[in-house]
Amino acid sequence: MNLKTGSLFWFDTLPSPFVYPKLTKDIQCDVLIIGGGEAGSLCSFYLVNSGVDTVMVDKRKVAHGSSCANTGLLHFANDKSLTSMINTFGEDRGARFYWMCKQAVEELQHITSQLEFSPDYIQRPSLYFASQPGDVQCLQIEYEWLSKYGFPVTFLQPDEIAERYSFSKPAALYSEGNAEFNPFKLVHSLLQHAHRKGMRIYAETEITHHILEGDTLLFFTAEGNYIRCKKAIFATGYETQQIKRNKNAVLSSSYALVTQQLPSFTGWHERSLVWETARPYLYLRTTVDNRIVAGGLDITSYDEQERDSHLQHKAKLLLQQVQDLFPSIPDMRIEYSWAATFGETHDGLPLIGTQPDFPQCYFLLGYGGNGTVLTMVGAQIIHDLVVKGFHTDAHLVDFARV
Ligand SMILES: Cc1cc2nc3c(=O)[nH]c(=O)nc-3n(C[C@H](O)[C@H](O)[C@H](O)COP(=O)(O)OP(=O)(O)OC[C@H]3O[C@@H](n4cnc5c(N)ncnc54)[C@H](O)[C@@H]3O)c2cc1C
Repeated sequence: MNLKTGSLFWFDTLPSPFVYPKLTKDIQCDVLIIGGGEAGSLCSFYLVNSGVDTVMVDKRKVAHGSSCANTGLLHFANDKSLTSMINTFGEDRGARFYWMCKQAVEELQHITSQLEFSPDYIQRPSLYFASQPGDVQCLQIEYEWLSKYGFPVTFLQPDEIAERYSFSKPAALYSEGNAEFNPFKLVHSLLQHAHRKGMRIYAETEITHHILEGDTLLFFTAEGNYIRCKKAIFATGYETQQIKRNKNAVLSSSYALVTQQLPSFTGWHERSLVWETARPYLYLRTTVDNRIVAGGLDITSYDEQERDSHLQHKAKLLLQQVQDLFPSIPDMRIEYSWAATFGETHDGLPLIGTQPDFPQCYFLLGYGGNGTVLTMVGAQIIHDLVVKGFHTDAHLVDFARV
């Protein structure tokens, strides 16, 4: 699968990324992680800290899958609102899941503070605005649910939005407890941490198939070597759908851009994260080197040729939408733009845990617009399932949920 095309901004923020060798011999370990993106690297952080003998392989260079297409917004709120979660799963499960996401944003800050180089994690407020007057009532109900469960959120009227931003909207939710980060640096810094603690990492090493021999798993590589292990974690992102198709998973395509460095962010309160109630939604943030990152305009097809054929046009449209919101930031230009495959689920929850026909294997699929946060939630669950055999919240996100 070609997961992304275009010019990726994050590569230029780490000009000399860490390089790992190809696997050229047969090896063994306790736990094999397949996939060196955010999911694999977050899992590796917990496993090596627990002293588990771990190996990671990736068929590409590490952090060259969807993780380098990530725009780096960390929201506790999901594409599926708390109201909607509660309608689908009931009040207890919906609210519990939202709190797990809130804690995951905080846990990411805690983890990044322990790494040797910073993935530019910065706490930011978030503005979630009503795209049209008809969305105000839903926003009001969402505000009431979020307030009931103690989430740090304020309801803003049009004049209160206009006081803070260079635009006004019919209403908005303004929340604390969110953040921005650099996904490429996050994966590299996590993997350096795990590598220094003894994890073996092999890049450009593709797993083609595996068998169970007694209670041992044997994973075979495209080069003809094998890895013998007791347990394995599939952190293989959207491409997992080629290994095992899940009815709940939906693949599509999305677009993103990064502007040139800008002298100021007039009319942009606290350089907050910004997104909206429309679906697909426009979303934006700023970067540590004073650029704007924007994304959205998703299409339902995940055909790579079709996706890529729209890139230039979509990037122009995105820039226009950003410029319309911030007319006081003149002369924005596109310096980077990319198209990427994107994955979410029908019910709005990630897919985390075990699946039939894959004994001793675990899957960490943080599908959703909030993918990093969902992956963070999942990394802790997978760690506990692998090391302790249980996690009290695992049933909320497992493959067999109702
Ligand atoms: C345009 C875009 C913007 C996004 N923005 C945000 C955002 O702002 N905030 C947010 O939270 N989320 C965002 N996301 C979602 C986020 O990017 C994903 O949730 C996250 O990157 C998934 O990480 P991953 O490790 O699961 O997948 P990947 O990064 O794709 O890693 C999987 C790895 O597995 C490897 N692999 C696959 N099969 C094999 C095999 N057989 N053998 C060996 N290796 C294999 C691949 O090479 C790949 O490197 C965005 C996604 C897109 C597309």
